[in-house]
Amino acid sequence: MYPHHYKNLNPDSMDCRLKLPKPKQNREFPHVINTMGNSLLVFLWPNICIYPQRIPLPELDAYMKIQSLFFVFICCLNGCSNTSNPAYPPEEESSLSNISWNTSLGTADGWNAGNWEWSLVSGDSYSGVAKLEISPLAEPLKGWNIQWEFFPALPDSQEQNSLVLTPLNQEKWHCMKGFGPHESSMIPLPRIPIDSTLYPDLLHLIKELTTPYFQQRVTHWPEYPIPVRLVPAINGPIDMAECLSEATERWNEGADSPWFIIDSTASWGIRLVFFPDREMHPPLAAQITRLDGDGRPLRINLLAGNNYHSLLSRPYVVRGFVHELGHALFLWGHSLDRIHCLWGLAPPMVSDPSADERKAARWWHGLPDGLDLSRYGDSALSSINLQ
Ligand SMILES: [Zn+2]
Repeated sequence: MYPHHYKNLNPDSMDCRLKLPKPKQNREFPHVINTMGNSLLVFLWPNICIYPQRIPLPELDAYMKIQSLFFVFICCLNGCSNTSNPAYPPEEESSLSNISWNTSLGTADGWNAGNWEWSLVSGDSYSGVAKLEISPLAEPLKGWNIQWEFFPALPDSQEQNSLVLTPLNQEKWHCMKGFGPHESSMIPLPRIPIDSTLYPDLLHLIKELTTPYFQQRVTHWPEYPIPVRLVPAINGPIDMAECLSEATERWNEGADSPWFIIDSTASWGIRLVFFPDREMHPPLAAQITRLDGDGRPLRINLLAGNNYHSLLSRPYVVRGFVHELGHALFLWGHSLDRIHCLWGLAPPMVSDPSADERKAARWWHGLPDGLDLSRYGDSALSSINLQ
Protein backbone atom coordinates (compact mmCIF):
# COMPACT_ATOMS: atom_id res chain seq x y z
CA MET A 1 0.00 0.00 0.00
CA TYR A 2 2.79 2.43 0.87
CA PRO A 3 6.06 2.94 -0.95
CA HIS A 4 8.69 0.61 0.47
CA HIS A 5 10.70 3.36 2.11
CA TYR A 6 7.79 4.26 4.42
CA LYS A 7 6.92 0.72 5.42
CA ASN A 8 8.55 0.57 8.83
CA LEU A 9 7.78 4.09 9.89
CA ASN A 10 5.18 5.14 12.38
CA PRO A 11 2.86 7.36 10.29
CA ASP A 12 2.32 9.88 13.07
CA SER A 13 5.91 10.24 14.14
CA MET A 14 7.66 10.29 10.79
CA ASP A 15 9.77 13.35 10.12
CA CYS A 16 9.45 14.14 6.44
CA ARG A 17 12.58 16.27 6.43
CA LEU A 18 14.70 13.32 7.44
CA LYS A 19 13.09 10.75 5.19
CA LEU A 20 13.22 12.24 1.75
CA PRO A 21 12.40 9.70 -0.94
CA LYS A 22 15.23 8.53 -3.13
CA PRO A 23 15.42 10.01 -6.60
CA LYS A 24 13.51 8.06 -9.21
CA GLN A 25 16.25 8.53 -11.78
CA ASN A 26 19.77 9.90 -12.01
CA ARG A 27 19.27 13.40 -13.33
CA GLU A 28 22.99 14.45 -13.52
CA PHE A 29 24.76 11.56 -15.30
CA PRO A 30 22.79 11.63 -18.57
CA HIS A 31 23.42 15.33 -18.85
CA VAL A 32 27.22 14.80 -18.58
CA ILE A 33 27.13 12.02 -21.17
CA ASN A 34 25.06 14.14 -23.48
CA THR A 35 27.55 17.03 -23.31
CA MET A 36 30.55 14.72 -23.80
CA GLY A 37 28.92 12.97 -26.73
CA ASN A 38 28.12 16.19 -28.53
CA SER A 39 31.66 17.54 -27.98
CA LEU A 40 33.27 14.37 -29.33
CA LEU A 41 31.03 14.34 -32.36
CA VAL A 42 31.75 17.98 -33.23
CA PHE A 43 35.52 17.56 -32.72
CA LEU A 44 36.02 14.29 -34.60
CA TRP A 45 33.53 14.51 -37.44
CA PRO A 46 35.78 16.54 -39.85
CA ASN A 47 38.69 14.09 -39.30
CA ILE A 48 36.47 11.06 -39.85
CA CYS A 49 35.18 12.42 -43.14
CA ILE A 50 38.53 13.61 -44.52
CA TYR A 51 40.86 10.79 -43.45
CA PRO A 52 39.56 8.04 -45.84
CA GLN A 53 40.99 9.92 -48.85
CA ARG A 54 44.51 9.08 -47.55
CA ILE A 55 43.80 5.38 -46.90
CA PRO A 56 44.81 2.71 -49.48
CA LEU A 57 41.82 1.08 -51.14
CA PRO A 58 42.10 -2.50 -49.56
CA GLU A 59 41.99 -1.04 -46.07
CA LEU A 60 39.15 1.36 -46.78
CA ASP A 61 36.43 -1.28 -46.25
CA ALA A 62 37.67 -2.10 -42.72
CA TYR A 63 38.00 1.57 -41.97
CA MET A 64 34.41 2.25 -43.03
CA LYS A 65 33.20 -0.48 -40.64
CA ILE A 66 35.09 1.09 -37.72
CA GLN A 67 33.74 4.51 -38.65
CA SER A 68 30.16 3.18 -38.66
CA LEU A 69 30.60 1.52 -35.26
CA PHE A 70 32.05 4.72 -33.81
CA PHE A 71 29.16 6.76 -35.19
CA VAL A 72 26.61 4.35 -33.71
CA PHE A 73 28.40 4.52 -30.35
CA ILE A 74 28.23 8.31 -30.26
CA CYS A 75 24.55 8.24 -31.24
CA CYS A 76 23.83 5.75 -28.46
CA LEU A 77 25.47 8.00 -25.89
CA ASN A 78 23.25 10.84 -26.96
CA GLY A 79 20.19 8.63 -27.11
CA CYS A 80 20.72 7.30 -23.58
CA SER A 81 20.64 10.74 -22.09
CA ASN A 82 17.25 12.16 -21.26
CA THR A 83 17.22 15.42 -23.19
CA SER A 84 13.50 15.89 -22.49
CA ASN A 85 13.83 15.62 -18.71
CA PRO A 86 11.36 18.23 -17.41
CA ALA A 87 12.46 21.07 -15.20
CA TYR A 88 12.54 19.65 -11.71
CA PRO A 89 13.42 21.43 -8.50
CA PRO A 90 16.38 20.19 -6.49
CA GLU A 91 15.28 17.57 -3.98
CA GLU A 92 16.15 19.56 -0.91
CA GLU A 93 13.51 22.12 -1.91
CA SER A 94 9.90 21.84 -0.83
CA SER A 95 6.76 23.63 -1.97
CA LEU A 96 4.02 24.98 0.26
CA SER A 97 0.29 25.27 -0.13
CA ASN A 98 -1.57 27.35 2.48
CA ILE A 99 -5.34 27.28 2.83
CA SER A 100 -7.49 29.37 5.12
CA TRP A 101 -10.80 27.63 5.80
CA ASN A 102 -13.63 29.39 7.63
CA THR A 103 -15.83 26.73 9.17
CA SER A 104 -17.39 25.53 12.40
CA LEU A 105 -16.28 21.98 11.61
CA GLY A 106 -13.52 20.10 13.25
CA THR A 107 -13.44 21.35 16.82
CA ALA A 108 -14.39 18.00 18.27
CA ASP A 109 -13.01 15.87 15.47
CA GLY A 110 -9.33 15.75 16.37
CA TRP A 111 -7.72 17.84 13.64
CA ASN A 112 -3.98 17.59 13.88
CA ALA A 113 -0.86 17.11 11.83
CA GLY A 114 -0.24 14.08 9.67
CA ASN A 115 2.07 12.67 7.06
CA TRP A 116 0.96 11.77 3.57
CA GLU A 117 2.37 10.64 0.26
CA TRP A 118 1.91 12.69 -2.89
CA SER A 119 1.95 11.38 -6.44
CA LEU A 120 0.55 12.39 -9.82
CA VAL A 121 -2.47 10.97 -11.64
CA SER A 122 -0.71 11.42 -14.97
CA GLY A 123 1.47 8.38 -14.46
CA ASP A 124 4.57 10.51 -14.07
CA SER A 125 6.85 8.55 -11.77
CA TYR A 126 7.54 11.46 -9.45
CA SER A 127 6.23 11.20 -5.92
CA GLY A 128 7.17 12.33 -2.44
CA VAL A 129 5.90 13.04 1.00
CA ALA A 130 3.45 15.74 2.06
CA LYS A 131 3.46 17.08 5.56
CA LEU A 132 0.11 18.37 6.81
CA GLU A 133 -0.11 21.02 9.54
CA ILE A 134 -3.45 22.27 10.88
CA SER A 135 -3.86 25.19 13.29
CA PRO A 136 -6.85 27.31 14.36
CA LEU A 137 -7.50 30.62 12.62
CA ALA A 138 -6.76 33.70 14.70
CA GLU A 139 -9.72 35.06 16.69
CA PRO A 140 -12.35 36.22 15.97
CA LEU A 141 -12.32 33.99 12.88
CA LYS A 142 -13.50 30.43 13.26
CA GLY A 143 -11.86 27.73 11.24
CA TRP A 144 -8.46 26.36 10.30
CA ASN A 145 -5.17 27.17 8.68
CA ILE A 146 -4.18 24.19 6.60
CA GLN A 147 -0.63 23.93 5.32
CA TRP A 148 0.69 21.28 2.96
CA GLU A 149 4.45 21.03 2.53
CA PHE A 150 5.58 18.82 -0.34
CA PHE A 151 8.98 17.07 -0.39
CA PRO A 152 10.40 17.25 -2.97
CA ALA A 153 8.64 20.30 -4.39
CA LEU A 154 5.85 19.56 -6.85
CA PRO A 155 7.22 19.60 -10.41
CA ASP A 156 6.63 22.76 -12.45
CA SER A 157 5.19 20.65 -15.22
CA GLN A 158 2.38 19.36 -13.03
CA GLU A 159 -0.98 19.63 -14.72
CA GLN A 160 -4.03 20.93 -12.95
CA ASN A 161 -6.08 18.41 -10.99
CA SER A 162 -3.37 15.78 -11.19
CA LEU A 163 -2.34 15.55 -7.55
CA VAL A 164 -3.05 12.42 -5.50
CA LEU A 165 -2.66 12.62 -1.72
CA THR A 166 -2.60 9.39 0.24
CA PRO A 167 -2.55 9.55 4.04
CA LEU A 168 -0.09 7.26 5.75
CA ASN A 169 -2.79 6.76 8.36
CA GLN A 170 -5.77 5.67 6.28
CA GLU A 171 -7.74 4.80 9.39
CA LYS A 172 -7.83 8.49 10.17
CA TRP A 173 -7.97 10.37 6.86
CA HIS A 174 -9.58 9.92 3.47
CA CYS A 175 -7.46 9.70 0.32
CA MET A 176 -7.67 12.72 -2.02
CA LYS A 177 -7.38 12.69 -5.79
CA GLY A 178 -7.54 15.24 -8.58
CA PHE A 179 -6.47 18.45 -6.88
CA GLY A 180 -4.34 21.25 -8.30
CA PRO A 181 -1.11 22.27 -6.54
CA HIS A 182 -2.48 25.52 -5.13
CA GLU A 183 -6.17 24.77 -4.97
CA SER A 184 -7.94 26.68 -2.19
CA SER A 185 -10.17 23.72 -1.35
CA MET A 186 -7.39 21.15 -0.89
CA ILE A 187 -8.64 20.32 2.58
CA PRO A 188 -8.18 16.92 4.20
CA LEU A 189 -11.26 15.08 5.46
CA PRO A 190 -11.08 12.84 8.52
CA ARG A 191 -12.84 9.50 8.68
CA ILE A 192 -15.81 9.89 10.98
CA PRO A 193 -17.60 6.80 12.28
CA ILE A 194 -21.38 6.54 12.10
CA ASP A 195 -24.02 4.29 13.65
CA SER A 196 -25.13 2.70 10.38
CA THR A 197 -23.40 -0.54 9.48
CA LEU A 198 -24.28 -0.12 5.82
CA TYR A 199 -21.75 2.66 5.22
CA PRO A 200 -18.07 2.56 6.19
CA ASP A 201 -18.02 6.14 7.45
CA LEU A 202 -19.76 9.50 7.31
CA LEU A 203 -18.27 10.54 3.97
CA HIS A 204 -19.79 7.53 2.23
CA LEU A 205 -23.22 8.27 3.69
CA ILE A 206 -22.96 11.91 2.56
CA LYS A 207 -21.96 10.78 -0.92
CA GLU A 208 -24.98 8.48 -1.10
CA LEU A 209 -27.31 11.27 0.02
CA THR A 210 -25.90 13.96 -2.28
CA THR A 211 -25.20 12.13 -5.52
CA PRO A 212 -28.75 12.71 -6.84
CA TYR A 213 -29.05 16.25 -8.18
CA PHE A 214 -25.85 17.62 -6.57
CA GLN A 215 -23.38 14.96 -7.81
CA GLN A 216 -21.53 15.19 -4.48
CA ARG A 217 -20.57 18.83 -5.12
CA VAL A 218 -21.09 20.86 -1.95
CA THR A 219 -23.90 23.41 -2.31
CA HIS A 220 -25.17 25.88 0.27
CA TRP A 221 -28.23 27.97 0.92
CA PRO A 222 -27.47 31.73 0.87
CA GLU A 223 -27.93 32.01 4.66
CA TYR A 224 -28.85 30.04 7.75
CA PRO A 225 -31.31 29.51 9.32
CA ILE A 226 -33.35 28.74 6.22
CA PRO A 227 -36.74 30.53 6.23
CA VAL A 228 -39.80 28.27 6.06
CA ARG A 229 -42.94 29.90 4.76
CA LEU A 230 -46.18 28.38 5.99
CA VAL A 231 -49.66 28.71 4.49
CA PRO A 232 -53.03 27.62 5.94
CA ALA A 233 -53.15 23.88 5.24
CA ILE A 234 -55.99 22.06 6.98
CA ASN A 235 -56.30 18.45 5.90
CA GLY A 236 -59.38 17.07 7.67
CA PRO A 237 -58.41 16.83 11.37
CA ILE A 238 -54.73 17.58 10.73
CA ASP A 239 -53.09 21.00 10.51
CA MET A 240 -50.34 20.34 7.97
CA ALA A 241 -48.60 23.68 8.63
CA GLU A 242 -48.36 22.80 12.31
CA CYS A 243 -46.87 19.41 11.42
CA LEU A 244 -44.23 21.07 9.23
CA SER A 245 -43.42 23.53 12.02
CA GLU A 246 -42.94 20.60 14.43
CA ALA A 247 -40.66 18.86 11.94
CA THR A 248 -38.44 21.98 11.74
CA GLU A 249 -38.11 21.88 15.54
CA ARG A 250 -36.97 18.26 15.40
CA TRP A 251 -34.17 19.20 13.04
CA ASN A 252 -33.27 22.28 15.10
CA GLU A 253 -32.99 20.28 18.33
CA GLY A 254 -29.41 19.43 19.09
CA ALA A 255 -27.98 21.50 16.23
CA ASP A 256 -25.17 23.99 16.98
CA SER A 257 -27.41 26.67 15.52
CA PRO A 258 -30.94 26.23 14.13
CA TRP A 259 -31.34 24.99 10.57
CA PHE A 260 -34.81 26.43 10.03
CA ILE A 261 -36.86 29.43 11.11
CA ILE A 262 -40.55 29.96 10.45
CA ASP A 263 -40.77 33.14 8.39
CA SER A 264 -43.75 33.62 6.15
CA THR A 265 -42.41 36.85 4.65
CA ALA A 266 -39.22 35.42 3.12
CA SER A 267 -38.89 35.53 -0.64
CA TRP A 268 -36.53 32.53 -0.72
CA GLY A 269 -36.15 29.30 1.21
CA ILE A 270 -38.70 26.59 1.86
CA ARG A 271 -42.38 27.01 1.13
CA LEU A 272 -45.32 24.80 2.04
CA VAL A 273 -47.62 24.24 -0.94
CA PHE A 274 -50.90 22.56 -0.04
CA PHE A 275 -53.41 21.06 -2.48
CA PRO A 276 -56.73 20.89 -0.53
CA ASP A 277 -58.61 19.15 -3.34
CA ARG A 278 -56.06 16.58 -4.40
CA GLU A 279 -54.62 13.32 -3.11
CA MET A 280 -50.94 13.00 -3.93
CA HIS A 281 -48.75 9.95 -4.51
CA PRO A 282 -46.49 10.06 -2.62
CA PRO A 283 -48.44 12.19 -0.11
CA LEU A 284 -45.48 14.59 0.45
CA ALA A 285 -42.71 15.68 -1.91
CA ALA A 286 -39.88 18.22 -2.21
CA GLN A 287 -39.36 20.19 -5.40
CA ILE A 288 -36.62 22.66 -6.33
CA THR A 289 -38.37 25.55 -8.06
CA ARG A 290 -35.85 28.40 -8.21
CA LEU A 291 -32.09 28.64 -8.68
CA ASP A 292 -29.60 31.46 -8.28
CA GLY A 293 -27.21 32.55 -11.02
CA ASP A 294 -24.77 29.78 -10.10
CA GLY A 295 -27.39 27.03 -10.21
CA ARG A 296 -27.83 26.73 -6.45
CA PRO A 297 -31.37 26.23 -5.13
CA LEU A 298 -33.06 29.40 -3.85
CA ARG A 299 -36.48 27.93 -3.26
CA ILE A 300 -37.75 24.46 -2.45
CA ASN A 301 -41.47 23.75 -2.30
CA LEU A 302 -42.77 21.08 0.03
CA LEU A 303 -45.88 19.71 -1.64
CA ALA A 304 -48.67 18.21 0.46
CA GLY A 305 -51.95 16.70 -0.73
CA ASN A 306 -55.27 16.12 0.96
CA ASN A 307 -54.36 12.52 1.85
CA TYR A 308 -55.14 12.19 5.56
CA HIS A 309 -58.49 11.58 7.16
CA SER A 310 -57.70 10.55 10.73
CA LEU A 311 -55.86 12.22 13.59
CA LEU A 312 -53.99 8.92 14.02
CA SER A 313 -52.04 9.79 10.88
CA ARG A 314 -50.58 12.94 12.42
CA PRO A 315 -47.28 11.37 13.69
CA TYR A 316 -46.70 10.00 10.17
CA VAL A 317 -47.24 13.42 8.65
CA VAL A 318 -44.59 14.89 10.99
CA ARG A 319 -42.22 12.03 10.10
CA GLY A 320 -42.88 12.68 6.45
CA PHE A 321 -41.97 16.34 6.85
CA VAL A 322 -38.81 15.44 8.79
CA HIS A 323 -37.85 13.33 5.75
CA GLU A 324 -38.66 16.16 3.30
CA LEU A 325 -36.71 18.70 5.36
CA GLY A 326 -33.69 16.39 5.05
CA HIS A 327 -34.04 16.83 1.28
CA ALA A 328 -34.38 20.58 1.84
CA LEU A 329 -30.95 20.49 3.51
CA PHE A 330 -29.74 19.22 0.09
CA LEU A 331 -29.50 15.61 1.27
CA TRP A 332 -31.46 14.89 -1.88
CA GLY A 333 -30.89 11.15 -2.03
CA HIS A 334 -32.08 8.28 0.12
CA SER A 335 -30.37 6.03 2.61
CA LEU A 336 -30.34 2.25 2.52
CA ASP A 337 -30.58 2.06 6.29
CA ARG A 338 -33.96 2.06 8.03
CA ILE A 339 -32.50 3.76 11.12
CA HIS A 340 -32.33 6.95 9.01
CA CYS A 341 -35.26 9.32 8.45
CA LEU A 342 -34.08 9.46 4.82
CA TRP A 343 -34.56 5.71 4.36
CA GLY A 344 -35.87 5.40 0.84
CA LEU A 345 -37.51 2.01 0.53
CA ALA A 346 -40.71 2.86 2.44
CA PRO A 347 -42.17 5.66 4.61
CA PRO A 348 -39.74 6.58 7.40
CA MET A 349 -39.63 4.31 10.44
CA VAL A 350 -38.18 6.98 12.75
CA SER A 351 -39.62 10.27 13.96
CA ASP A 352 -36.41 12.29 14.24
CA PRO A 353 -33.29 12.79 12.19
CA SER A 354 -30.72 10.18 13.22
CA ALA A 355 -27.35 11.12 14.68
CA ASP A 356 -25.82 10.05 11.33
CA GLU A 357 -28.03 12.44 9.38
CA ARG A 358 -27.37 15.31 11.78
CA LYS A 359 -23.64 14.75 11.23
CA ALA A 360 -24.17 14.50 7.46
CA ALA A 361 -26.04 17.82 7.37
CA ARG A 362 -23.50 19.52 9.63
CA TRP A 363 -20.54 18.38 7.52
CA TRP A 364 -22.15 19.10 4.16
CA HIS A 365 -22.94 22.65 5.22
CA GLY A 366 -19.56 23.19 6.91
CA LEU A 367 -17.54 22.24 3.82
CA PRO A 368 -16.48 24.85 1.25
CA ASP A 369 -19.04 25.68 -1.41
CA GLY A 370 -18.28 23.76 -4.61
CA LEU A 371 -16.02 21.12 -3.00
CA ASP A 372 -16.27 17.93 -5.04
CA LEU A 373 -16.57 14.98 -2.66
CA SER A 374 -16.11 12.49 -5.48
CA ARG A 375 -12.38 13.33 -5.17
CA TYR A 376 -12.27 11.78 -1.71
CA GLY A 377 -12.31 8.33 -0.26
CA ASP A 378 -10.83 6.21 -3.02
CA SER A 379 -8.92 3.70 -0.97
CA ALA A 380 -8.91 0.07 0.07
CA LEU A 381 -10.86 0.95 3.20
CA SER A 382 -13.73 2.38 1.20
CA SER A 383 -15.06 -0.98 0.07
CA ILE A 384 -18.34 -1.97 1.59
CA ASN A 385 -20.57 -4.99 1.61
CA LEU A 386 -24.16 -3.90 1.28
CA GLN A 387 -25.65 -7.37 1.86
ZN1 LIG B 1 -37.49 11.23 -0.16
